Amino acid sequence: MAGVLGGLPEAVLQFTYLVAAVLFIQGLRDMTHPRTATRGNATSAGGMFLAVLVTVLWFEILSPVVLAAGLLVGGAVGVWLAVSVETTEMPQLVGLFNGFGGGASALVAGAELIDVLGTGTQLSVGLTTTAAIAGIIGSVTFWGSLVAAGKLHGVVGDSPVSPNAGHALKGLFLLLAVLAGLFLIVRPDIFGQPPVTPWLPSYWVLVAAASVLGVFLVVPIGGADMPVVIALLNSYSGLAAATTGFVLDNTVLIIAGTLVGASGLILTVIMCDSMNRSLRNVLFGGLGGETESEDMDEIYEGQITETSPEEVVMLMETTQRVVIVPGYGMAVAQAQHAVAELVGLLDENGVDVEFGIHPVAGRMPGHMNALLAEADVPYEKMRELEEVNPTFSQTDLVIVTGANDVVNPKANTDDSSPIAGMPVLNVSEARSVVVNKRSLSPGFSGIPNPLFAKDNASMLFGDAKESMQALVNHYKEETS
Ligand code: NDP
Repeated sequence: MAGVLGGLPEAVLQFTYLVAAVLFIQGLRDMTHPRTATRGNATSAGGMFLAVLVTVLWFEILSPVVLAAGLLVGGAVGVWLAVSVETTEMPQLVGLFNGFGGGASALVAGAELIDVLGTGTQLSVGLTTTAAIAGIIGSVTFWGSLVAAGKLHGVVGDSPVSPNAGHALKGLFLLLAVLAGLFLIVRPDIFGQPPVTPWLPSYWVLVAAASVLGVFLVVPIGGADMPVVIALLNSYSGLAAATTGFVLDNTVLIIAGTLVGASGLILTVIMCDSMNRSLRNVLFGGLGGETESEDMDEIYEGQITETSPEEVVMLMETTQRVVIVPGYGMAVAQAQHAVAELVGLLDENGVDVEFGIHPVAGRMPGHMNALLAEADVPYEKMRELEEVNPTFSQTDLVIVTGANDVVNPKANTDDSSPIAGMPVLNVSEARSVVVNKRSLSPGFSGIPNPLFAKDNASMLFGDAKESMQALVNHYKEETS
């Protein structure tokens, strides 16, 4: 049925979709730099708004009241989630959004099949094939994402199923989903044709099997690897949307889905490279996560030098160049504003101060850059690993705050370590290193860090925000 704009030539619809696609691409381009990222987000959202608006006005999809209610409720939940979620919980939120995208694709593909059947038309092979693919990928994405978000949030534990049994179950449910898909393609007439209610059981068997598959795919993967899994599921949600675009013959959905699919895959590869892990190892291997307490005692016993904010400020007064290395703990403590204030003071006193940012510092790519940008740290001060590493030998003081794995020299020296080969910030090449964290506990990878025991390193124990604020206060006192 045609909507308000339905009388216009088809070219108008396609042109508007083209404009929306250009906005998506421009938005993505802007998102590649922190300075333009907010604008990029708005540009892409504007493209999506345009695409939704023109689709709604072109086709009479639902009654305006139902549509408005859906937009209002969905929009309100989205705003509430985005505003209330902490920055450290962003990966879970992204996981949920991916899941909803995948689930929507599976439901829309099924609804389209039923809709076409309702008109008494035979289902074409093209339609059933694309719907089967969208149904499988969408359902895997929905359930996989729920499990991944649950694991990151600590509400879903690790799998009680042995790895081999897990692989067998995955194979079984994949086979079941594919068989149901083939049945849908080859015999869409079974149960599906009027006068029998067109509910297409083969499609829903496919959805059920793929849902169980989604759970079994993610449950065995350690919570530590969930951010990578979420990036991969992000890519799946794009693929599901693009395939649903073929089901509906909707160009803008195909373009948007392909962009999400490709960018999710690129992000997955970047994350794997930055941790020096293969995707296969993430999906089927599993990262430590356990604390090697014996090893830790061996490394730290009698080797740890503790320092105080007063002593660190004394060091700061004699330095020409300081590099600050932030990590996950800085995000948890929300210390970015205190850190930014410290940087401002050092700047005022003529100290050359920069940040050394590891690509996977925190719990998702860009985590540190986004937090520091929020605290108005100038982008020019944020140096990436490759840029900052060669400068450590000319640096007087490195302040590591809430980071651990990304400065762990074991990555370079211990082939058996879970982070072996991961590029790290070689902070110990600086004259002095101060590591600020609450204890000697390990980071995300669960392994000890020999940096803490180095001769030129000292530990400033305490919460990142309180410690950074203490540095600011003492530095002000000393320099005023
Ligand atoms: P880590 O997880 O290695 O270490 C963070 C440290 O912060 C902990 O050792 C903890 O020590 C400390 N900490 C926690 N809370 C506070 C607080 N309130 N104040 C001060 N310190 C605190 O973080 P990194 O950023 O160094 O490394 C990131 C890790 O995450 C890497 O292993 C990376 O591979 C992994 N990862 C990152 C992804 C990404 O995209 N960014 C994706 C997937 C994985 P303590 O308890 O003693 O205070």
